[in-house]
Amino acid sequence: MKLTVLGAYGPYPAAGGACAGYLLEHEGFAVLIDCGNGVLSRLQQFIKVSVLRAVIVSHLHSDHFSDLFILRYALQFGWEKGEIERPLPVFAPADPAAEYVRLPYKNVYAVEAIAEGRALQLGPFTFTFLKTKHAIPCYAVAVYLAGEKIMVYSADTEYFPALSDFARGATLFLCEANFLEEDLQKGASNHLSARQAATLAQEAGVEALLLTHLLPFRNPQLYLQEAARVFKNVEIAREGMVYDLGLPGATDIPAGDSDRDYPEKWRQLTVKTDSVTASIVAGRLEEEGIPVYLKKDEAAGSIYGLTVGPLANIRVLVPPSKLEQARRLLEEIEGTH
Ligand SMILES: [Zn+2]
Repeated sequence: MKLTVLGAYGPYPAAGGACAGYLLEHEGFAVLIDCGNGVLSRLQQFIKVSVLRAVIVSHLHSDHFSDLFILRYALQFGWEKGEIERPLPVFAPADPAAEYVRLPYKNVYAVEAIAEGRALQLGPFTFTFLKTKHAIPCYAVAVYLAGEKIMVYSADTEYFPALSDFARGATLFLCEANFLEEDLQKGASNHLSARQAATLAQEAGVEALLLTHLLPFRNPQLYLQEAARVFKNVEIAREGMVYDLGLPGATDIPAGDSDRDYPEKWRQLTVKTDSVTASIVAGRLEEEGIPVYLKKDEAAGSIYGLTVGPLANIRVLVPPSKLEQARRLLEEIEGTH
């Protein structure tokens, strides 16, 4: 299974970023979890909208579902061009009702309510839900593949012990960490601190923790440092990062029309062994208008692709047409070190 982080900020994005959006793919079956602002744009860097088979929305706050109001236009054009034949299933909490009733649009969405205790079977995936502790009804999502709990997504929540039971044994815990401990001490509520996310990961015995829903104005390293004191195998969710999880060898994106559409065809610029250096290089390339795709390789000796430190290989990929320009820039960047 492949997880692509499309948006990792909340409740608003950093410049050029997006709010909650996580693309899951297995055997060519693509499901989007959350569809916050900026997610539709990012999604199309990886797949065509017509390939999407379902959207699951954790809760009806704008940073998790506002792009549904834009995605509907893309689907409508798809219908008219005959590229899409059936409504896209959208699963979301039925409350607040005033938001839920706004979701259906023409014939493009088939909207259904999610609830705790209801398992959802979509293609190769099974999803289960747990109501979290948030300002409005919100559901954490567990993702199963062939009976294995591959990933649990916290959605938005405060700390509550049942969440670690729900995440127990998952390969990856994709957990929000909107706050640091210092924020909670000042009375911040409705979200987790990085330390609480790490505590949940520790209690749940997950393989790896990926922190997301970050405040756009804060240095992500502060979240990482706070969490790493409690749980070692932790990383910051970086937009555009692709993780191979479980059932190794599953890389199933349909072939694209052009090399820009599908980063599978992009060329390797360099390999970095830590996400900080990879992020610095990616940031510099993006500043120069070069699209970048960071592909995390499965580490040697690790069953799953998510590790930190020297075991993780992060391949920095760029479109073939930008390779030469990127190489020159890389020499410049590394020459200054
Ligand atoms: Zn949120």
